[in-house]
Formats: sequence, structure tokens, C-alpha cells
Amino acid sequence: MSFLEYAPAPESRAILNLRDEYGLFIDGEFRPGSGESFATISPADEKHIATIASASDADVDAAVAAARRAYEKTWSKMSGRDRGKYLFRIARLVQERARELAVAEALDNGKPIKESRDVDVPLVAAWFFYYAGWADKLDYAGLGANPQSLGVAGQVIPWNFPLLMLAWKIAPALAAGNTVVIKPAETTPLSALIFAEILQQADLPPGVVNIVTGAGATGAALVRHPDVNKVAFTGSTPVGREIAKAVAGTGKKLTLELGGKAANIVFEDAPIDQAIEGIVNGIFFNQGHVCCAGSRLLVQESIHDEVVDRLKQRLSTLRLGDPLDKNTDIGAINSREQLDRIRELSQIGEDEGAVRWSADCVIPENGFWFAPTIFTNVQASHRIARDEIFGPVLSVLTFRTPAEAIEKANNTPYGLSAGIWSDKGSRILAVADRLRAGVIWANTFNRFDPASPFGGYKESGYGREGGRHGLLAYLKGAQS
Ligand code: NAP
Ligand code: MG
Repeated sequence: MSFLEYAPAPESRAILNLRDEYGLFIDGEFRPGSGESFATISPADEKHIATIASASDADVDAAVAAARRAYEKTWSKMSGRDRGKYLFRIARLVQERARELAVAEALDNGKPIKESRDVDVPLVAAWFFYYAGWADKLDYAGLGANPQSLGVAGQVIPWNFPLLMLAWKIAPALAAGNTVVIKPAETTPLSALIFAEILQQADLPPGVVNIVTGAGATGAALVRHPDVNKVAFTGSTPVGREIAKAVAGTGKKLTLELGGKAANIVFEDAPIDQAIEGIVNGIFFNQGHVCCAGSRLLVQESIHDEVVDRLKQRLSTLRLGDPLDKNTDIGAINSREQLDRIRELSQIGEDEGAVRWSADCVIPENGFWFAPTIFTNVQASHRIARDEIFGPVLSVLTFRTPAEAIEKANNTPYGLSAGIWSDKGSRILAVADRLRAGVIWANTFNRFDPASPFGGYKESGYGREGGRHGLLAYLKGAQS
């Protein structure tokens, strides 16, 4: 039963000015790829959006050569102040074209327009504004006077936050004086290609940013290219491991942002109304396609039943459907492949003895969808408590004491993020101090700010993005 009926409120697609076909963006212009083109579709209805070029090894080589030329001839010679002007210009153009980018992102990725409009795109602009401000202040980055850029950065990004991950990669690289070749994910190239138009509009010198679309092989060619000085990757731990091997011993600098299985710890003294919202935001934001998602709820035993009941009530009010509808809370799963993985792991959860509850949503006929799901009776040894599901699935575990909460939270090969909900500041600080996770939120979850470093421990990767730390990954003389 739904509590409120909403009339459809779809955002218009009329603002999009899409081409039928997109080429590779190399040396400041679009050109055909020599690999086999592919289609990008909308995961909400499986309809074709555009045909996308695929970059072969030779195309990647041309992109790296363009980036090298731009680095030698213009970008590394330009003052930080002038680089900053370009970054400010890009940030303002992202704001100007915000609605268009939000619609494109919702269409291509399947995320609700509410999120692409209010979270992804504003953060993209914020990231460029933030690093624009650093471009002429590198002497204050903590590496002494006049720190040096690295050269050409090869960057590979995933499909869950296509434009935001592009901003996280490109903004600090350019601010620090590097040039870039970036590969978007195969299922979500669209916003990066609109971003290429923004770069043309901003008059960015040709070759400073090159965008090579394609599948995993294009990414592999990029990270292995001998003339790349720095590799930055966000994606899965297995691919991250492969890249670390390929880069080992080459002298390339490497940062890896990989998976996670974050604990969201709720103590009995927590403000429960806020905690319920925070748990929902922690795992159902972006369909749970979030590396730092709060996918393991650790709830104190005394409040377990109350929290689970209220979560079920809250999930029953979420609206699943058309990503372009302004009232939609839960959009489409990004691909059939990802949907299959979520289904498989959920089935394993049931088979291993956990108790499954899914919200009673009307699932659209076409496209890829998964109803928000909670598993209770979860044991620490269950696959759904250990593996990253990367979907709208929450595993609930309990604890009795803070020490037990900490031990359970750290019992994972990952270490990207965690959340703590408690009324006591002293408890929050004491627990946070003992959690092995790169980002820890207190009485909130999934908050991002360009001034704040983000990154993992253990199998979640190494290096930091965001803040002053994010610059160090693109300058000589720093660890990451
Ligand atoms: P993925 O398969 O690792 O893909 C990530 C990117 O790498 C894509 O652009 C992919 O291209 C490319 N790629 C695939 N194989 C490659 C190879 N051998 N060499 C170089 N590049 C290669 O991960 P995904 O399925 O797109 O994303 C889901 C995973 O990413 C999750 O496990 C999630 O935790 C992780 N993730 C982590 C973060 C973080 O910040 N730590 C953020 C987002 C996602 P194709 O798209 O063509 O396959
Ligand atoms: Mg798509």
C-alpha cells in the first residue's frame, strides 16, 4: 500500500541536444574511433541513447601523444593563475549547463533526477571551483616551494557517479599542472562527452583533456601505456589489483579507489528518526551503487526490532520508477550484469539462512530494477555480510557493547568508510578512533565535500582524493 499517490512529474528531455553518434575526444576535437562502436542505453527502459566510439590501442596512443604535446607546449608552461582561470571557467559552465547534465546523467545511468540534480552535478561544480582555487597556491600544498607536476595522467572511472568521478579525477590533475587521458565506463559515457563540449566552450587548450570511450580493453591500454606518468583508477578490487600489477616497477604513480563494505553503527542512544533516514541514505542512495555505502547495519541489540520495523515502514514509502520523474527515490540498476550480481548475492543470502524482506514495489516491465531489500538474521560469515553487493541491499547484524561493534565493523577486507550514530560525542570519537576506515561519518552518512580527503584502507585501495591530499597524488615528491 502506498501512503500517498503522486501524479507523474517527469523532467523534460527537451533540454538535451544529443548527437546520434559520439567520437573520441582527442586533441580538442571529436574524431572517429578505430575500435568497434557500441551503444549506450537507458537502464530504465533499455532504449538506445547514442552510438559511442570505441578507442583501440592506436587511438589511446594518439590521445596520450596529444596529452604529452599539450603538457610540454602549453599546460606545464602556464602559470597556476592561468590554469585556475580555465578551471573556474569549467566550473561555471557546469553550473550553466547543470540541468542538461543532470538529465543526461539520470538517463544514461538510471539514477533519480533528484540525485543527479541535487547531488552529482552540484558536487561536480564544487570540485572544479575548489581545485581552481588551489592552482595558484601549490606552494602551500605541503610539499615545499614550487612543487612539480607529473606529466600525463591516465584515469579510469566507473559507472556509478560518471560525471562526479570524472571531476574527482580531472580537477586536481589539471590544477597541479598535469594533462589527462580519461576513460569513462562503457555503460555511462554520455555525461563525459557533454563535458567534452564544455571543454571546447571553455577554450581549454587542445590535448589538455582527452576522453577515450570504450570497454575494459581501452582502460587496460591506457594504464599500460609507457608514456603515462600517473594512473588513477576507481572501480572494483579485482581490476584494481590487475592495474597495480601492470604498473608495478614502471615508475608510474598510482592511486586506487576500490570497493567497500561499510559498517553503519547505530547505538541505543542514537537519535532514531535521524538514524533511520541516515541508514536509508547510506544504502539506498544511488540504488546502493556507492563504494562507501553503509551496506552493513550494526545495530545495538536492545533497539534491533524497533529499528528494523521502522526501516521497513520507511522503505515502504520510497518510490521506485522512472529516473526522470522528480518524485522518484529509487531509480534503475545500471546494467543487466549488475542486476544479475545483486540477484545472485541476494539468493546466496537466503540460501545461507538470512531472512529477506523486500519493499512491495511495482517493478516496471522493461529495464533493470531491484526493490529495496533488507536481510536480518545475518551472520558475520555470510557472503552478504562480506561481499560488496553494490545494490539496494542492507545486511543487518547486531552487537551488545562498543567493543563488539568495533570488532565487527573492522571484520572486513575493506576499509573505505563507516558511520556512527550516538548521542554521545565522546563515544563517537572513541569508536571512530578505532575503526579502520578512510572516511567516518557521525550522525550522518554519504556526505561529500571537495575539501575533505576520501580514500581507503586495505582492499579499498590507497591514495586520497579530495582536499589538499588530493593534490599530492598529482605532484612529485609525495607518497600518493
Ligand atoms: P570495474 O569493472 O572495475 O570498472 C571500472 C572501470 O575500469 C571501468 O571504466 C571499466 O571499463 C574499466 N576496466 C575494466 N577492466 C579493466 C582493465 N583490465 N584495465 C583497466 N580498466 C579496466 O568496476 P565497475 O563494475 O565499473 O564498478 C563497480 C565497482 O567499482 C564496485 O566494486 C565498487 O565498489 C567500485 N567503486 C569504487 C569506488 C571508490 O571510490 N572506491 C567508486 C565507485 C566504484 P568498463 O566500464 O568498460 O568495464
Ligand atoms: Mg547507459
